[in-house]
Amino acid sequence: MHPVQLSQLLEAREQRLYRQQELLQKYGKPLISLSMNIPGPVKRSPLIELAFDAVLDRLPPALERIVTRADTGCEAIFCCDRPAEELKRLCQILEEESPVGRLYDLDVITPDGEKLSRAIPRTCLVCGKPAFPCARSRAHSLEELTSAVHGLLTDFAADHLADLAVTALREEVELTPKPGLVDAANNGSHPDMDLPMFYRSAEALRVYFREAVLLGLSSPDCAPTLQQAGLQAEQAMYAATGGVNTHKGAVYGFGLLLCAMGSCLERKDDLFQRAAALAKGCKRSAEVTHGSIVAQKHGAGGARAEAQGGFPSVQYGAQVLAETGDPHVTFLSLLLRCTDTNLLYRGGQEGLDFARSWAQRVLDAAPESRLSLMQEMDQAFIERHLSPGGTADLYAMTLLLDKTRSIWT
Ligand SMILES: [Zn+2]
Repeated sequence: MHPVQLSQLLEAREQRLYRQQELLQKYGKPLISLSMNIPGPVKRSPLIELAFDAVLDRLPPALERIVTRADTGCEAIFCCDRPAEELKRLCQILEEESPVGRLYDLDVITPDGEKLSRAIPRTCLVCGKPAFPCARSRAHSLEELTSAVHGLLTDFAADHLADLAVTALREEVELTPKPGLVDAANNGSHPDMDLPMFYRSAEALRVYFREAVLLGLSSPDCAPTLQQAGLQAEQAMYAATGGVNTHKGAVYGFGLLLCAMGSCLERKDDLFQRAAALAKGCKRSAEVTHGSIVAQKHGAGGARAEAQGGFPSVQYGAQVLAETGDPHVTFLSLLLRCTDTNLLYRGGQEGLDFARSWAQRVLDAAPESRLSLMQEMDQAFIERHLSPGGTADLYAMTLLLDKTRSIWT
């Protein structure tokens, strides 16, 4: 987080106008020009980038887009093949609907280079009255302004990351076909579970996900509090599922990852080292779980080792997903790489080997035959009552990491 000088901001503005002109000349179509309205000398931070990325994802498809992340601020120019008035309406909705919309400067520029003005005047960040008189009279100190912005951004981060986490869990269960697991086609090796139950369970965890982010934002060393919150989250999950364990592994893994994300948004740190430190700070529970039984019997580290090692499998999964863009390949690659303790619990070493050889077979197959092979794989798992639940947790965390990738790299 580097403070910038006025001269740098003026230079950045020149650059922006130049790029706008270039795109207007090249396409002769309207532009959306996005910048962040951040008072004070620090214009770029992970918290600011999270809010920036969130609105970037909601802008319409562009003929060409230029995205800049510099110390002078995050900026984007989208050249869109749509009427300027339509783009302006969309931008006003984005500015008004988002809780951090007040921090978005979304200008629409017509093909003639004319800037369409806002219909509704903006309100002050501190007092909520019309912004212009407050700015003109310097009604509020820089400290008041930056504190108001920080409050908006942290609140947004907790809501937004919790939302991405719930979405990741929904996308995980929806991935179809998926061997032995609940998906959109069947309940896999789980007669006691179904798709709506997973949706209810994911939604029940939203409050906990939000709390995990807030805990990380407030302090880097909050493992005991997080652990307490995790226990309550498990109860919320059981209440939503009628006592079925749908997401216990996700409560553990997502809690750590989201808490580490909160911490890294606030202070410069490595996301995975922070997550590992948090995992090491959690007390070992006396509870006998499937994971702990398998750990004793097979010497497999499971979810705990994965977390204490800084989630190497999740990092690997995110790399595969970025390289291939293929959810099924990502899932199978994770299955092949990790030692899934759910598979070990249900099928022993033989079950794990069986699952891995299937994963390898599908990965080696021609891409066009993978989906039908995965349906076969699903049936083979169901017959053996196998379920790679550990892989499913890692895959869901991979999706969460993928959705926020630009922030941590
Ligand atoms: Zn004011």
